[in-house]
Amino acid sequence: MECFYHQGSQACGICKSCQRGVCKQCASEVNNGIACKQRCEDQAIELDNLVSNSIKMQESSELLVNTASASIGAGELFNLVLGAIFAVYGIYEDTIFLTVLGVAFLLFGAFGILKIFKAKKESDV
Ligand SMILES: [Zn+2]
Ligand SMILES: [Zn+2]
Repeated sequence: MECFYHQGSQACGICKSCQRGVCKQCASEVNNGIACKQRCEDQAIELDNLVSNSIKMQESSELLVNTASASIGAGELFNLVLGAIFAVYGIYEDTIFLTVLGVAFLLFGAFGILKIFKAKKESDV
């Protein structure tokens, strides 16, 4: 392949922006490749920023999913805390209804957390 700008000169690579072959003289190094000197440098850098921005967006969306699955765990923890409060209050006030309700919440929360741990273990494998 010849340099797009110099006939007879061997191209050393392809410009990231315009995809033309460029020789060592015409190529300028940008973040992750080469671009035509003074012609495509800015566009190539912009292109790079665009790519790294979309990677960042992907990372932040993954973070969002992780936070969402963590909040499911928080919901189960809330059940546990609520159950403990109900159970203690029920025992303290000698109210069987509250005690049973509290124990039910505790079991519900514990089962929920067990389920999450099991799902996490399976997804790890
Ligand atoms: Zn170019
Ligand atoms: Zn050239």
